[in-house]
Amino acid sequence: MRAVVLMKQVPDLRAGSVGLREDGTIDRASASTTTNPADLHALEAGLQLAEEVWAMSMGPPQAESTLREALSLGADGGVLLCDRVFAGSDTWATANVLAAGIRHLGEIDLVLCGTSALDGETGQVGPQVAERLGLPQATGCEAIEDRDDSVEVRRIVEGGFERLAVPLPAVLTVAETGFQPRYATLPGRRRAAAAEVTVWTAADIGLGSELAGLEASPTKVAHMRPVPVARTTCRVVGEGISLEELAAEIIAVVRGGGTRSDKVLQAEEQTGAMQSAAPSHGGDIWVVCEFVDGELGVPSRELLSKALDLARGTGGRVVAACLGAGIAAAARSAGEFGADEVLVADDVLLDPYRCEPFARVLTDAIRGRRPDVVLFSATTTGRDLAPRMAAALDTGLAADCTDLRVADWQRRGETYRHLLHQERPAMSGSVVATCVCPESRPQMATVRPGMFSPLPRPGRGEVTALHVELGPSDLRVEVLERSVQRGEVALADADVVVAGGAGCDSASWHLVEDLAAAIGGRVAASRGAVEAGLAPRSVQVGQTGSSVAPRLYVACGISGALQHVVGMRRAGTVVAVNRDADAPIFSFADYGIVGDVRDVLPRLAGSLEALG
Ligand SMILES: Cc1cc2nc3c(=O)[nH]c(=O)nc-3n(C[C@H](O)[C@H](O)[C@H](O)COP(=O)(O)OP(=O)(O)OC[C@H]3O[C@@H](n4cnc5c(N)ncnc54)[C@H](O)[C@@H]3O)c2cc1C
Repeated sequence: MRAVVLMKQVPDLRAGSVGLREDGTIDRASASTTTNPADLHALEAGLQLAEEVWAMSMGPPQAESTLREALSLGADGGVLLCDRVFAGSDTWATANVLAAGIRHLGEIDLVLCGTSALDGETGQVGPQVAERLGLPQATGCEAIEDRDDSVEVRRIVEGGFERLAVPLPAVLTVAETGFQPRYATLPGRRRAAAAEVTVWTAADIGLGSELAGLEASPTKVAHMRPVPVARTTCRVVGEGISLEELAAEIIAVVRGGGTRSDKVLQAEEQTGAMQSAAPSHGGDIWVVCEFVDGELGVPSRELLSKALDLARGTGGRVVAACLGAGIAAAARSAGEFGADEVLVADDVLLDPYRCEPFARVLTDAIRGRRPDVVLFSATTTGRDLAPRMAAALDTGLAADCTDLRVADWQRRGETYRHLLHQERPAMSGSVVATCVCPESRPQMATVRPGMFSPLPRPGRGEVTALHVELGPSDLRVEVLERSVQRGEVALADADVVVAGGAGCDSASWHLVEDLAAAIGGRVAASRGAVEAGLAPRSVQVGQTGSSVAPRLYVACGISGALQHVVGMRRAGTVVAVNRDADAPIFSFADYGIVGDVRDVLPRLAGSLEALG
């Protein structure tokens, strides 16, 4: 097997956040660089699976060190795609460059990359390269087994996994929970130091400037700003409030009624007020809906509700695009959340979800009906599907957005009216970037679940059947098994969340579970706890996990790193338990208990029980 591993050199955000210049752009010079950690897992997969492994990177001359690292770990060759023309490429343009580089490398069985890069965190390049090369894809793979002319992969999905048979050649993105990277040996380092890294320019790979670089990129960053997340006051137990009083507060919050944190609603109200008032042109907004256990999923309801607000700015209708088998009745419920029209593609070939048939049906429909905006939930399905479609449609895509609004945008004296402004965390959650897609259509975004309230607001809900015409090339990937635990799907929708961190261990983790059970909450985890093997990745909260907006969030033994906080900052009331009085989590908490989880959690559970 011959494999190419796509690797990126990124600012080392683990060594501290990157500074912002006065104009809002990132001061990359202030950060040291490193090989994107996720790509090392992809390289390890390549080294275990393939006889010949090439590492390929697009970047400036200094990105050569990333390729030397790959060589030191065992890669057979390294290719740097380096040309001024490539500078400033968004994911669409980056995928064009990498796909051209891969074609130039000759016949390849497997293209591997990390699920996402530390800096952009889009997870888009893998599926976009797959689309450019016309290959099947699987994203978020934590296990890959060679089956001669295909691979069998285990792909992470919300609350579980699915096993897919993917024919070769294929593009796979590798999850950080799989393929633990090896360490370089001394002979490996020596070999890498002496090896020659191949450098190819745009001319070498036959790529024109219309397909790469800042100007060609459909997505533009309108501006960046630091994340304002800290809360002002934290009432600490023992300093004006007793544990019993806090327990009473917790019960009041838990029993308080309502389904979502107030902060979600406030965010929506603010956004609504900022929208353009008088649209001069129309533009339909499509929401690609997902179904869970035969019902319209909560993230899709949230998006439909938001789309209705946005449609006031674009002047168009809200259209729900529903794909699956036997979903006609459930699809109709999209009308109850604001859809004016419900497009239904009901076909056995569309169940269970597979990227290529979904992408085919949707891109055909989009080409025919030309919506202005297409929105997806940033679920494992949306993150898999949207990038491939954006590449097929040659348009921009903003990943993992936390807010959307419609407003005018000016650039070089030109005014773009009623553009979708897509806010998303970037640089490891330390900044919020606002992206726009001024020229290409549709404007596309994936949106984090839990950002908006699913408000029932009846639309006309007129149902139209979508034409389904699929060929063998759309049906290459086979779903062998899908295993999802029912209760785990809706963490983003939980009213009460009790999260444990690396301050817990295997002996004390049950205290987090006991507290969650005592107050009817869902158990969640920081990445520290996930990496310690205390909880599955599917319950991770934060930048690379879920966003939650519960009425109550209890953080147990969690330090409060920004990457965690961005996932829980919309919680209504936050209670933090930490033995370090200076832990950053207390800056984001309404109530704090300084102490050991092993001591505090049983006492808190006892006080809650005493109050009934
Ligand atoms: C690109 C990127 C994305 C990331 N995405 C995420 C993400 O999605 N979610 C996420 O959570 N992190 C994410 N991280 C990691 C993040 O930076 C932190 O490393 C992580 O959140 C730390 O987890 P933690 O707070 O559980 O562990 P630690 O930072 O190790 O904190 C443990 C805390 O527990 C306290 N403690 C220890 N023992 C006890 C005890 N017995 N009783 C009480 N308190 C105790 C300590 O004082 C400490 O504050 C990301 C990082 C990067 C670079």
